[in-house]
Amino acid sequence: MTHILTLNAGSSSLKYGLYEATDPPRPLTTGKVGRIGSTARLSPADGPARDLPSVTDHATALFSVLSEINDTHPKARVTAVGHRVVHGGLDYDAPIRLTPDALSPFAPLHQPHNLAGVRAAISAFPDAAQIACFDTAFHRNHPFVNDTFALPRRYYEAGVRRYGFHGLSYDYIASDLAQHEPDLSRVIVAHLGNGASMCAMRDGRSIASTMGFSALDGLPMGTRSGQLDPGVVLYLMDQQGMSPGQITELLYNQSGLKGLSGLTNDMRDLEASSDPRAAEAIDYFTFRIRRELGALAVSLGGLDGVVFCGGIGENSAMIRARVCEGLDWIGISCDADRNAANARVISPDGSPVRVMAIPTNEEIVIARAALALG
Ligand code: ADP
Repeated sequence: MTHILTLNAGSSSLKYGLYEATDPPRPLTTGKVGRIGSTARLSPADGPARDLPSVTDHATALFSVLSEINDTHPKARVTAVGHRVVHGGLDYDAPIRLTPDALSPFAPLHQPHNLAGVRAAISAFPDAAQIACFDTAFHRNHPFVNDTFALPRRYYEAGVRRYGFHGLSYDYIASDLAQHEPDLSRVIVAHLGNGASMCAMRDGRSIASTMGFSALDGLPMGTRSGQLDPGVVLYLMDQQGMSPGQITELLYNQSGLKGLSGLTNDMRDLEASSDPRAAEAIDYFTFRIRRELGALAVSLGGLDGVVFCGGIGENSAMIRARVCEGLDWIGISCDADRNAANARVISPDGSPVRVMAIPTNEEIVIARAALALG
């Protein structure tokens, strides 16, 4: 029996999964190293969490993951490693098998965490196939109007486009819907986690996304601003004298729910807070989701289904209810009991739009690709 390892490196986290290399891949264990760079902590899905004081970067985090896997599954023989790579640029609309030489094209795309994970995996498993799965790939065939900005053409030709992200999550939801809800054609999926975006799908293919050139666009997120008037960036540079690095830190790490509330990026804590700024941050979050819902429904020319996923989308009945409130006029409504129970279908029977909460699974999408290309 051979095995597949999946690695999903974020800025301060490394999620992993170990699968038997069967078709479909069979999960053996999953987990996450969080808070890399401060007080790293390993949280296996099926065991107790523990602090990792010696983990300071993604390479040392991977060592801890490997020793955890070695302890729990000593006979695992990893022949393929699948990686989530955030940005595939213009060239990649499908997963690829990586070689050390083929890493260089990604370097200018500013994804050091993903590359650190790939390099560490190559040195840990020099004989295993390394497969890259791109978060942008699912969106690569958008119609021109959803792919471009109104800049001079040369920028479009040079790759300044709306790429869209969270593609592995949307890919999973598309495969789930194809299997369980084949009657739904026009569907909006809201991936609401620490990062958040929405995708309009027609017959399982992405036609529009709220995220654009970078993972900053669209919805406000835990610490990212979401859509912003570019004039604000000019003002920050010209009038406030901020450097590109300072603006990057502001827009990626100090904005969104955290910046607006002045409290936290964590939705659970915001929901529990009595501070009016927490309520305003939630108001803004749901307002923007509803605004995008309207825009994406128009892009689709109608609506058959809405799916909530991601940590907030899968777990927060309050956010789902707030998003659906008063939308009967476009066929969206939410049954309070089903919603409170986190049921798969939360709209009433016979509703024109089927509203659902579906747990996403980016890891299995990576594992399937690693099986196919490994
Ligand atoms: P990431 O984008 O880092 O993978 P997740 O998808 O795990 O993030 O989502 C994290 C978010 O989900 C956090 O804001 C967290 O507070 C929120 N969340 C998780 N469980 C709940 C819950 N029961 N109610 C409200 N929010 C929740």
